[in-house]
Amino acid sequence: MADVNRPLPTGGAASPGNVVAVLRDAGPLTRQQLQTLLGLSRATLVERLDTLQRMRMVRTVGHHASSGGRRAALLEADRSSRVAVVGWLGASHVSIGISDLSGKVLVDHTERLPLGHTPSHVLPWLVDMARQQLSATGRGGDLAAVGLAVPGQIDQATGISIMPTTMPAWRDQPLRDTLADGLGVEVLLENDANALAYGEYLAAGSRQSTVLGVAVGTGIGAGVVIGGRPHRGATGCAGEIGHIRIEDRDERCSCGRRGCVAALASGKALVRQLRGDGVRSLPDVIRRVESGAPQAVAMATDAGRLVGTVLATVVTILNPNLVRVGGEIGSLAPFRAGLAETLTQQAHEVAAQGLDVGPAVLGERAPLVGMAGLAAEAVFDPAAIDRLAARP
Ligand SMILES: [Zn+2]
Repeated sequence: MADVNRPLPTGGAASPGNVVAVLRDAGPLTRQQLQTLLGLSRATLVERLDTLQRMRMVRTVGHHASSGGRRAALLEADRSSRVAVVGWLGASHVSIGISDLSGKVLVDHTERLPLGHTPSHVLPWLVDMARQQLSATGRGGDLAAVGLAVPGQIDQATGISIMPTTMPAWRDQPLRDTLADGLGVEVLLENDANALAYGEYLAAGSRQSTVLGVAVGTGIGAGVVIGGRPHRGATGCAGEIGHIRIEDRDERCSCGRRGCVAALASGKALVRQLRGDGVRSLPDVIRRVESGAPQAVAMATDAGRLVGTVLATVVTILNPNLVRVGGEIGSLAPFRAGLAETLTQQAHEVAAQGLDVGPAVLGERAPLVGMAGLAAEAVFDPAAIDRLAARP
């Protein structure tokens, strides 16, 4: 899906990046149609298309059915010749896959990780797994980008993730540089709730949608897509709702403060609350809730209600079309029922009217699909194409 809000490419309307952008927006097109749309001379367009076909950014897809004369070749942005490695790292799992530039995930694999896992163990595994997947799919020579979704905020200037307190060993790690060294291409980092929201935005199929994505697993995060882009905020912490304080609550949070919603309603909090029931881990919580154990179901419902209360404020401020709830706890029916209950009761009446609140339609794959879409946007970014085209 083309980005309707893309800025004018730095190279101007005639730049290679803009030729691809127009083909993504309006293609497939004949050379004549492209020439008219772009206002280019035939010679300039031929030169641009030669460059772009060499770069595997543009390809021919059949012919325009014309009445008489020669049939004109149709051109489109080439979404299949290059691939991205897409990943999603969490407190208790890591997923990795290969996607094409239409945003389709071609293969993927998820591995559970013990709490307290470390970068020295997981990063080499990620690079190795990516290489294996590239080789198994025969796409080793086609890698164009890497996109990794991580919890917490990301310093986009340095490529360092300021991971949440649930992943202490990962704080201040040079994630982007380590992966770029390992795989030899540019690496895009995104907050996992933003990636979830972007995946759901793509699945919704409407460029105008404002999507609020909520991920409740070990921790709690939210992400929002506005105007076709994830909204990161001034310092990358937009949507970090886990540490919003719930009135009159005093439970200690891993962030050092008290009464945060994450200390009451996250997977980590539920493990603690159900400890007396023999619960020791997140999968234990999920099994109890899914088997209908009354105490676990009641706790999950209450947790959902608390998150719904926080989201009611967010929904009133952002007035989204869709709220999509994912993550291991977010996927539990009692949690989602509690969430929908307080959210619709407490959000502004007009913001709540017609608001579509539901599970992530992509399920657990939402963040990976979101990263596939974001990686494609990065590869097709007109300024990035212009830089590549200008290389000798
Ligand atoms: Zn906190």
